[in-house]
Amino acid sequence: MSTLHDEPPSAKQYYYLCLLSFFVFVSCDNTAPKQVVQHTPVVKKADTVVVDAKPLEKKKTKKKIYLTFDDGPNKGTDNVLNIIKEENIPVTFFLVGAHAFGSKAQKATWDSLQTNQLVELCNHSFTHAWYNSYDKFYKLPDSVVSDFNKTAERLQLKNGIGRTPGRNIWRVDSMSFTDNAKAKAAADSLYKAGYDMLGWDLEWHFNPKTMRVTKSADDLAKQIDSLLLKNKTKQPGNLVLLAHDQVYKNAEDSLQLHQLIRKLKANTDYEFAIVSNYPGIKRKRITDSLLKDKTYKVDSLRKGNVINKDTNRAI
Ligand SMILES: [Zn+2]
Repeated sequence: MSTLHDEPPSAKQYYYLCLLSFFVFVSCDNTAPKQVVQHTPVVKKADTVVVDAKPLEKKKTKKKIYLTFDDGPNKGTDNVLNIIKEENIPVTFFLVGAHAFGSKAQKATWDSLQTNQLVELCNHSFTHAWYNSYDKFYKLPDSVVSDFNKTAERLQLKNGIGRTPGRNIWRVDSMSFTDNAKAKAAADSLYKAGYDMLGWDLEWHFNPKTMRVTKSADDLAKQIDSLLLKNKTKQPGNLVLLAHDQVYKNAEDSLQLHQLIRKLKANTDYEFAIVSNYPGIKRKRITDSLLKDKTYKVDSLRKGNVINKDTNRAI
C-alpha cells in the first residue's frame, strides 16, 4: 500500500512546492554578497541657450589715419613722444639724417626714438634737399638717391620707406604722383633704387615765421572727417597727415596736437596706423643694396643742424 507521500505530487502541490523554493531562494539570496555595481556618473546636460538665428554682422573696417612727423629729431620731438605715450597710439617719423647728429639733445632724442615701440622711423633724406635748395637738389637724381642712402645707412633704418623734402611725391606700388614735374626723375630714381615714397593727403600747416600751427585741432579734425567721407584721399579709407614735430615744442601747439589725437581717437570709425601698413607698401624691410651704397660724400655735408635758409631757423 502506498502512502500519500509516495504518491507523485499533484499539479497544485507542484505549484506550491515551486513557490516555496522561490521564497527560500530569495531569502537565501539576501545573505549572499552583494554585487558591486559601478555607476557611471550621470552628466547633467547643460541648459541649451537658444540664440536668434540672425546672421553675424560683418566687422566694419576702420578708416586708418597715419600721423606722420617730418624733420626730426629736433626740439619738438620729445613733446610728440610724450603725447603719443599718454594716448598709446602709433605714429611715424620721417627723419632728417643730419638732425640725428646735430647736437647732444638731438642725439638723445634720436636714442629714445630708436627704442620707442610706438614709432616707425622712415627716411626724409640726410640734408633735407641740401638745406632746402630744392630745385638744385632734385636736378640730380643720383645725388638724391645717395642722400637718402646716407640716412638709411647712418641711422640703420629698418625699412625702405621715404618722403621727399618739400615735394609731395608718391611712388607706392602702382600709384605714382609728383606735385612738381622737376622732381619726377629723382622720384623715379628713388623708387628704382628700392624706396617706397610716401607723400601726404593733408598737411597741418604752420607759419614759418612764428613756427605756430595755422589751424586749430577742431578745424583740422573736421577737414580729416570730410576728406575721408568724400573719399578725397589717395587711397579710400586711408589718410596720411603731415605734421612737423618742431612746431610742437610750443606748449599751446603741443596741446592742439594732443586735442587732435583725442578727437580722432574718440571716433570709433578711425584707427591709427604706421605707414608700413599703408596699402601697397612693399619696402617694409630695407634692402642690403641701400645699406651698401657708400657713394655719398660725407665731407660735402655740413655737420650739425640743418638750417632753413629763408627763415634762418632749424628745420
Ligand atoms: Zn621736411
